[in-house]
Amino acid sequence: MTTKKQVALVFLPSDSGVDGARSLYDEGSDSGPVRWFNGAVRNLIKKTQFAIPPLALMILASVEVPGIEQTICDLRFEPFPFDRSWDLVGISVQTGMASKAFGLAGELRSRGIPVVLGGPHVTMFPDSCRPHADALALGEADDLWKEVLSDLASGSLKPEYRTDAPPDLSISRPVGKASLKNNRYFTTNLIQTGRGCPYRCDFCNVHVLNGHVLRQRRISDLVEEVLRFREDDRRIFFFVDDSINADPSFALELFDSLAPLGIRWFGQATTALGQQPRLLDAFARSGCQALLVGIESIEPSSRDAHRKTQNRTEELAGNIKAIRQSGISLYGSFIYGLDGDTLGTPAAILDFIADTRLDVPGINILRPNPGTKVFDRLREEGRLLFDPDDLSSFRYTFGQEMLYRPKNIPLPDFIESYSELTRRVFNVGNAIRRGMDAPSIKPAVLLFNLFYSHLYNLSRHDLRRQLERVTADKIHFERT
Ligand code: SF4
Repeated sequence: MTTKKQVALVFLPSDSGVDGARSLYDEGSDSGPVRWFNGAVRNLIKKTQFAIPPLALMILASVEVPGIEQTICDLRFEPFPFDRSWDLVGISVQTGMASKAFGLAGELRSRGIPVVLGGPHVTMFPDSCRPHADALALGEADDLWKEVLSDLASGSLKPEYRTDAPPDLSISRPVGKASLKNNRYFTTNLIQTGRGCPYRCDFCNVHVLNGHVLRQRRISDLVEEVLRFREDDRRIFFFVDDSINADPSFALELFDSLAPLGIRWFGQATTALGQQPRLLDAFARSGCQALLVGIESIEPSSRDAHRKTQNRTEELAGNIKAIRQSGISLYGSFIYGLDGDTLGTPAAILDFIADTRLDVPGINILRPNPGTKVFDRLREEGRLLFDPDDLSSFRYTFGQEMLYRPKNIPLPDFIESYSELTRRVFNVGNAIRRGMDAPSIKPAVLLFNLFYSHLYNLSRHDLRRQLERVTADKIHFERT
């Protein structure tokens, strides 16, 4: 009997947020009860299963090559299993976790285990990743991964794998989830209908990585996947596409086809859905419970400055109300601190939330990630507050640190106004009111608002600490 070569596919945890909300500062300085409370909430959050599986690794784990067995290692739940024998480890690298990825890769390679690095960070910055890996997989790896595994099977791993063109998603590539442990996740029913985004928001790298042309899977493949996934997990489905209504006629055909299946689902859409009545009806009929919409800014000058052009400010509120009236709850994501924002912006955001009765508001701070246009611009303008070459600066946090200087608002005033804004949006009273008011999934809306009350509490704590440091030690935040 020949033994199969063992491949581990690794997903790394972020430093805070849904992976275990924690302060970025040493909690040892907090009082005993505060430390205990934060630890207890962190454990509760993990047990409440906000986590969703890593779809990219599900896709790679579904690639079958004779003589190869693949295992997903989700390090949000377990340490890397060094006690097992591995023939290859693939690590998916996002910029926020790049330092951790390089550390793990070094440890594995020192034990003689070959490492392939792939994912968004590696695709954008291959040169800085090359020294940390035996091989790089650049670009969308749906087809590349078969090559990697075939070369591993024949003992001829190459140092680099790249595609000339992104994969044609209309070719059937069934996604499996055999290597996922159901009870770890909020749901294992993740479906991606296509990739690419026609828009060019300057703070986003989706269009940089996946291109501007929408590439879609076949509707028959998607329906088959929904039916297959439903067999072993009856929970809600998550359509992960950034704008599930980007191509309204495709979305209409898809959700008309799914309507008879009786699933419940949530996804991400643009607020233009409020002006697409036939599609909105198909969403509601097919079981849509909630949508995340990227409002980003209600300031026209900020939308212009950051190329967020797909919705008009004056239409936003009406669209949101129309979507909620169809029975779908809305998570509305804002960014405060964009280039057209002023100290008057928080009041406008508060009015907007009250007027539209958004079910879960998300009040984010701009994160200028390397590889985005806004990062390049802020660096040129000397507004970054950290060393652009220090990867640890890009750790994922939940509004817990400022990475740049806002254009129109002095940093201390910004932190104070952001903190006041989140204090007014998130508290237990608002959480209960929004939970009761939500058009659907009321318990989830309540839970999310309570969860965010805790996360934004951490955000205020950490921003206050950052401000103290800025005052005490200007050099720390002005390394650029
Ligand atoms: S933020 Fe959304 S709409 Fe804008 S480029 Fe990114 S994916 Fe596209």
